[in-house]
Parts: sequence; structure tokens; C-alpha cells
Amino acid sequence: MPLLTMAVSADDVREAAKTLQGAAHRTPVLTSTQANAITGANLFFKCENYQRVGAFKFRGAYNAISHLTQEQKKRGVVAFSSGNHAQAMALAARELEVPVTIVMPHDAPAAKLAATRGYGAEVIIYNRQKEDREAIAADLAAKHGLSIIPPYNHPHVIAGQGTSALELFEEVGELDFLFVCTGGGGLLSGCAIAANHLAPDCRVFGVEPEAGNDVQQSLRCGERVSIPVPDTIADGAQTQCVGELTFPIIRNFVEDILTVSDQQLCNQMRFFMERMKMVVEPTGCLAAAAAMSGNIDIRGARVGIIVSGGNVDAESYGDFIKRGQSLS
Ligand SMILES: *Cc1c(COP(=O)(O)O)cnc(C)c1O
Repeated sequence: MPLLTMAVSADDVREAAKTLQGAAHRTPVLTSTQANAITGANLFFKCENYQRVGAFKFRGAYNAISHLTQEQKKRGVVAFSSGNHAQAMALAARELEVPVTIVMPHDAPAAKLAATRGYGAEVIIYNRQKEDREAIAADLAAKHGLSIIPPYNHPHVIAGQGTSALELFEEVGELDFLFVCTGGGGLLSGCAIAANHLAPDCRVFGVEPEAGNDVQQSLRCGERVSIPVPDTIADGAQTQCVGELTFPIIRNFVEDILTVSDQQLCNQMRFFMERMKMVVEPTGCLAAAAAMSGNIDIRGARVGIIVSGGNVDAESYGDFIKRGQSLS
């Protein structure tokens, strides 16, 4: 596939990094002797759970809203999201003084609903099983002249998410592997563009939940595959289909998609808690769980892992930690 068909370039990611300067945190890169001992590799965890709103989504949201015209900013923005994109849009819009409406599913984690409202967004609830969130958002956009900022299928969102890998390469230099989780593929495609540009030999793997391997299926059959809403604790990766814009980028720059079970996610959450003193949400554990599973031979390699977020209800967190078993 020619590069020209891709919606986002490495320059777009660099430009997004400039836009985000002073607005987004430059998140820490952590290492763990224990993780290195288990894998026989050098692991570098890029901790987006310490990003503003607790997930990388602030990057894409802020970059996308920043690129609107003055007139569009005045009318406002609307987003649909199962959680972190909602909070990210709410905070980014508040900082950029843009009115924001968020369409959220009725079963979104309570902490995420409360946080979104707390940032001052107007929240509209819909039923995930019965209603189409995109139609609701489109209706609101048409009625009130709002700009829709989708969670992944948008060039400025993809470029914004890619800045997390850009920062990782700037900080640690060459990497042999990069593991990135994927829902709709915004984070994965943005990071893959950055990797291809800064470290063309770095092997990039996407990771998704076993129960919802739509991106894996799509990559293997060469076109976007839709699946029913997957049953997994990785609520940030419950997407049914990879994005139109993210898929060509993933096809070009991502070697393969790996999958991880819910049990592995619980084990990884427990590892992060016990060994690294870090709260990571289930979706945020996907990339690390794949890298530490031993399914891909990373021994002796330098390995980047994007830890995508840390937003999880205290109650659920306790349950997941109890289910988790020690990694060794
Ligand atoms: C949204 C989200 C993802 C998935 O990101 P995509 O860009 O849709 O692939 C992964 N982890 C967390 C914590 C998220 O909030």
C-alpha cells in the first residue's frame, strides 16, 4: 500500500508534540529489575497512566481541539466514548475554553462518568446494546453546529497519540520492540508512525483482548472486520471495528497483533501493583502482558511498552487484584 494513502505523517506527530508542549505531561519511563529478570530483556514502560486524566487520550483530544478554527471552537465539540476519551475531551475543552458535550454508555465505570462531569462537560447517556452513539453524536452536531471529535478515527487524534511513542524514543533511544495496545487503533497507529520514523528497525506489535480480536482478524484478512461488543475487562479496547484511517497505518507499520486473556490482564495488574507500586487499568496492561507472556522471543532485546492508562474503580480494582496471580 503506498504511503500516500495514510492520513497521518511523522511530521504531523512532531507538530502535535509542539502543540502539546506545556499542556500534556511528559510522562515518566519506568524500568523494573523484576520485569527484566522475568523476560531476560530490557523493558521500558512509558507510563501514560500518569498522563493528565490518567490516560494517553489527553494527547489526541487536546491536539484535535487545538486544530479547530475559532468559529468551530466557539460552537463547541461533541465526543462519544466509553470513558477515557470522554475525560480527555472534557479537560482539553475546558483548558481551551471550548464548550463540550460527551455521549457516554450507561454502563461506563462510575469513576469515569463522575470525572467527565467533574471537568464541566455536559454528559448524555445512551444504551450501548440498543443505541448507536455515532448517530446520537451526529444528531447533536447537526442541531447545534458542534464538531465531532471521535476517539481514534481522526488525523489529529492519531498524531496526538503518537507523541507518547515519540517521547519514549527521545528518552531511551533505539528499541528492538514496541508493544502497544489497540482498541480502534489510534494509539497504535500514531505510535507506529513515530517508531517507523525514529527507529525503522523497531518491530511494532499491537495487542488486544482475546475476546475481541477484531484488529488481528482485520490484519490477517486484509480488510476491516466487525465483531460483536467483546466481553472483556479491558473496557478501553471493547471496540467492534478498527478505524478507517488507523487500519492502513497499522497494515503498513505493525508486524502483527497479539492477544491477551482477562486472566493475564489481572496477573499484570497485580505485577504492576506489587512490583512497581503502580495502579494500571486492565486495558493499560495489554501491551505489558503480551511482552511478558513469552509468546514473542524478546530475550536480550530493548523493549518499549506503552502503559496506556490507569483509570479503574477502586471496587473493580480490588476484584482484579484478587484474581491476579504472580508472574514468574
Ligand atoms: C482508548 C484506550 C485504549 C485504546 O486506544 P485506541 O486508540 O482506541 O486503540 C487503550 N487503553 C486505554 C487506557 C484507553 O483509554
